[in-house]
Amino acid sequence: MLRLRILGSGTSTGVPLIGCTCSVCTSSEKRNKRLRSSAIIETGLENILIDTSPDLRTQALSNNIIKVSAVLFTHAHADHVHGIDDLRVFNMIQGTPIPCYGDVRTITKIREVFGYIFNKVEGGGWKPELTTTITESEKAFELFKLQITPIDLVHGREIITGFRVNNLAYVTDCSELPDASREALKGIKVLILGALRERPHPSHFSIGEAIQVAKDLGVERVILTHLGHKVDYGWQKSKLPKGVEFAYDGMAIDFE
Ligand SMILES: [Zn+2]
Ligand SMILES: [Zn+2]
Ligand SMILES: [Zn+2]
Repeated sequence: MLRLRILGSGTSTGVPLIGCTCSVCTSSEKRNKRLRSSAIIETGLENILIDTSPDLRTQALSNNIIKVSAVLFTHAHADHVHGIDDLRVFNMIQGTPIPCYGDVRTITKIREVFGYIFNKVEGGGWKPELTTTITESEKAFELFKLQITPIDLVHGREIITGFRVNNLAYVTDCSELPDASREALKGIKVLILGALRERPHPSHFSIGEAIQVAKDLGVERVILTHLGHKVDYGWQKSKLPKGVEFAYDGMAIDFE
């Protein structure tokens, strides 16, 4: 049995939003507290982290994650990578470098922004030990006996990466799903799909758009993530069709 755990279900600011007094930000519903978007795939032996959110340390502590075998990066936006420094603690526990995977844009950007990790710096101090591998769209690769397929996603003006792992796919920060990507998603049973809010947004699906995409793909179970503070978990029953759920931090999703 494979399991994907949602480590963060929130948009780039997290929820609550600093200084906001809206009903969601002040809600006592635990599932309205959202750290920045990230997930981890647990095989029982290995843990594959998806993105290193700025909340990585908190996410690792609250989910008792003591091993990161590899990292898949969706893209290099701050909310998906700025926790990268926390990987050094896993290096210390494991005693080996951590392999990181991403498309050429993502890996290039990460190596540039976090130059202190990848370049020799005098007096650089304790830093993560990472290796990087560039993935290509729709070229599946094997990782710990899992079949991982990178999939192109349109995210506003950028092309970023979603990942299909067996019959599950993790597709966040998406505003348009190209035809080839829809093809590559054929046959999946579980889709983790980004949906920011009810109103349209130039670089993220709205809830309505995400529901339509899920319907087009005919997926049995759809879990909406990367949610903003205008989304109340309490809407789950009234606003979402059968088979569609809101993600929440700590949610565990079993797949094959
Ligand atoms: Zn994001
Ligand atoms: Zn708010
Ligand atoms: Zn983004």
